[in-house]
Amino acid sequence: MSIYAKVEKGPAIEVFALTQAFKDDSNQNKVNLSVGAYRTDAGVPWVLPVVRKTEIAIASDESVNHEYLPVTGLDPFTSAATELVLGADSIAIKENRAFGVQTISGTGALRVAAEFLHTQLNRNEVFYSNPTWENHHKIFSDTGFTSLHSYRYWDQSKRQLDFNGMLADLDQAPPGAVIILHACAHNPTGIDPTQEQWKQIADLMEHKKLFPLFDSAYQGFASGDPDRDAWAVRYFVSRGFELLTCQSFAKNFGLYCERAGNLTVVQQHASTKAAVHSQLTLIIRGMYSNPPAYGARIVSAVLNNPALRQEWMDCIKQMSSRIREMRSLLRDKLVALGTPGNWDHIVNQIGMFSYTGLNENQVRYLIKEHHIYLLKTGRINMCGLNTGNIEYVAKAIHAAVT
Ligand code: PLP
Repeated sequence: MSIYAKVEKGPAIEVFALTQAFKDDSNQNKVNLSVGAYRTDAGVPWVLPVVRKTEIAIASDESVNHEYLPVTGLDPFTSAATELVLGADSIAIKENRAFGVQTISGTGALRVAAEFLHTQLNRNEVFYSNPTWENHHKIFSDTGFTSLHSYRYWDQSKRQLDFNGMLADLDQAPPGAVIILHACAHNPTGIDPTQEQWKQIADLMEHKKLFPLFDSAYQGFASGDPDRDAWAVRYFVSRGFELLTCQSFAKNFGLYCERAGNLTVVQQHASTKAAVHSQLTLIIRGMYSNPPAYGARIVSAVLNNPALRQEWMDCIKQMSSRIREMRSLLRDKLVALGTPGNWDHIVNQIGMFSYTGLNENQVRYLIKEHHIYLLKTGRINMCGLNTGNIEYVAKAIHAAVT
């Protein structure tokens, strides 16, 4: 008998299974609202023009070669990424208390962060929002965390943030627990705390000595302004927290498959940097030795050149504005159809996703009867909507609800 015979088949990963089902569906009206990637109004992926231009420049640069990057990545990339999230005038950068290491996109940043927290800081307790991006649980559990908890976040009946529930649950967390916070554009709900609420979260976390781990997968993509989207992280740094931030350049640069990410470490004192950096180096060395260069070269070239950076800023404005337009259009169409319920949450949410409030039965109906693919939680990717399919989707939602 094969030694592999005892391996049990694992469950399908919902988002990838839905995308496959969408591909296999021959219905001409089919719509994919499941996968977390940007689509243009024509329903196709978008290579940002500034990214294309930079790729061409890199490809024709004879001095570029394919030598290994250092274990912690490309320095001009990590410094630009760290500055993007903490701000050019960050006191932590000025005092040499902050630095970044390149990672395999946002997921890799989270995995390296989890490994560091577990093995170097002996953390075993992590809290993530309910709901959250489903990989948070897996990453921390695969790392060896055995005490994994969720804190309340979404109030399904009111379709808004359950702020009191969130504070009450965080208040129960033991000192030192790692708290995963979405820096902006919370996935999957699209609901972020207000600045006033972030201040209260910071008060509680400071008082209870909780450790903030910011997951920043949508900076700039949410509001169109990277500074505004980084407000919460910068606020925590200004309060003197030591923290980690996991950055992805998948969405805001459209570099999904290129795996460009950065883990930013903010410390109280510059004196701990050498030791922390060395341990992160060893963690990465043992996991995948060194990161890929392609995406990091593009991000670095763009962020470190004022003219290219401006072009990038224009691109993220364009993407976030299209999403906002789709939000208003969908809400307006549902209201015009007289679809039961209040649909204002669709325009009040921010970022790529909307947590529609549709239940599992309604989701099943949309997939089966209308070939509209979305997660069973009712999360839709707003970018999957466009002027060509929004009427069809609104009518289908109407039919699902009535
Ligand atoms: N964190 C959140 C909240 C996300 O939504 C995602 C991607 O969907 C990621 C992290 C990581 O993405 P990636 O590894 O593609 O950068």
